[in-house]
Amino acid sequence: VAAVTERAHAAGLDAADPLAGFRDEFVLCERIYMDGNSLGRLPRRVEERVAALVQEWGERLVTGWHEWIELPARLGDLLAREIVGAQPGEVLVCDSVTVNLYKLAAAALDRRPGVIVTAVDEFPTDRYVLQGLGEVRLLDPDPAADDVAAACAPGDVALVCLSHVNYRSGALADLAGITEAAHDAGALMLWDVCHSAGVVPIDLSGVDLAVGCTYKYLNAGPGAPAFLYMREGLQLELRSPIQGWFGQREQFAMGPAYDPEPGIVRFLAGTPPIVALAAVEPAVELVAEAGVAALREKSVALTAYAIELHDAWLAPLGFELGTPRDAARRGSHVSLRHPEGWRICRALIERADVIPDFRAPDSVRFGLPPLYTRFVDVWDAFDRLRRLVEDEVYLELDPAPGRVT
Ligand SMILES: *Cc1c(COP(=O)(O)O)cnc(C)c1O
Repeated sequence: VAAVTERAHAAGLDAADPLAGFRDEFVLCERIYMDGNSLGRLPRRVEERVAALVQEWGERLVTGWHEWIELPARLGDLLAREIVGAQPGEVLVCDSVTVNLYKLAAAALDRRPGVIVTAVDEFPTDRYVLQGLGEVRLLDPDPAADDVAAACAPGDVALVCLSHVNYRSGALADLAGITEAAHDAGALMLWDVCHSAGVVPIDLSGVDLAVGCTYKYLNAGPGAPAFLYMREGLQLELRSPIQGWFGQREQFAMGPAYDPEPGIVRFLAGTPPIVALAAVEPAVELVAEAGVAALREKSVALTAYAIELHDAWLAPLGFELGTPRDAARRGSHVSLRHPEGWRICRALIERADVIPDFRAPDSVRFGLPPLYTRFVDVWDAFDRLRRLVEDEVYLELDPAPGRVT
């Protein structure tokens, strides 16, 4: 039996992997891709579907809208069923995460004003949007249900907004426990599932509001439309702050006054991006074929293997694990912290053909999407990483951060 640090061990894990065949569904490249948590790879079937849609545009022209107009709600139902554990009519695919977060948080606060609770290390766009909507109370990183309860104790909290998986540390939150703590305090709960959708089983039943994106573990392409979720019981009560015509009852009556649809569709704003939406369906179907439960199992094995190699090779070189060791408390990426993280990340990309990313101040993130990441990819990436640090190759790189990290 090969030792954990031998490449043969990784090859053995790949040989026993029931999901190994899904890698062939993707357009591949020579470089070792470890950033699928930021932008997923291109599925071949998405390439085909987008080409077909463009052709359809050429042939059908404006008559295509009879079907295209249903896409935000139809794809929402697909996500509800396969990815986020919601009911039909509770999810829409539309706009960006940022815009959806704004729409849902503004709608919630309009109904019930009060303090917003979020975490100090929440994803920047989430914090900025919430800061623009009212008073924000900040929790320490990776809060537990008790921390949320304590922050809500004054009784003035209207909305709690947190990420299911933290974008930097990869920590997985206690979704059910935190939701219960928010509800006990009379607040609404809004989850951001960007980093869990498609890779961690999600059960939104009982959750009030959620947003997420389709370009990370769902592989629908750069800037692919995001999604929003609203519990059915809230839909009549909450109103979108953007009174757009796509949320209007009998949209094409083009009446004088805004009168929103009774259901989730009231949270649409303007004309949906059909070419981009066309990519979402085959991408989500691919994830559904593998099954989120099976993906989670492989994801846990991949991150556990990365942590083993970190302990053996990288901890002695000054790295520190930035991700929880408890598998039940982490998502599908592993963050390695190092004071020279930025230059090490650049050196991996420019000198070693390994693509992770960097998150300030010191985290190099290795995203391990189980649909197409092999155990040998983890071995190869970390083997190159340790050599490059041992040989101090990173010292040759520019220490100034770039526009996109
Ligand atoms: C990726 C991500 C976003 C991205 O928002 P956009 O509007 O698509 O730019 C927002 N929040 C979290 C937690 C994310 O991981």
